[in-house]
Amino acid sequence: MRIPMLRDDMYCPKCEKTIKRERIAEVNLTMKEKFNSNNLEKGLCPVCGTRLFDLSKKEAKKDED
Ligand SMILES: [Zn+2]
Repeated sequence: MRIPMLRDDMYCPKCEKTIKRERIAEVNLTMKEKFNSNNLEKGLCPVCGTRLFDLSKKEAKKDED
């Protein structure tokens, strides 16, 4: 059986860290409150500012091919 929600994660290639899509809103709020940062809203890593890799897009591209 498949667990589709795991594919929607965002990944930072610099931190080698995955942020679950379902947690992004929550993490974004924390970042805003603590560091006045909206990096996540722009698709950037809240830690290092590197553009996050969208794992769901990778999946879609692979599907096309
Ligand atoms: Zn990062």
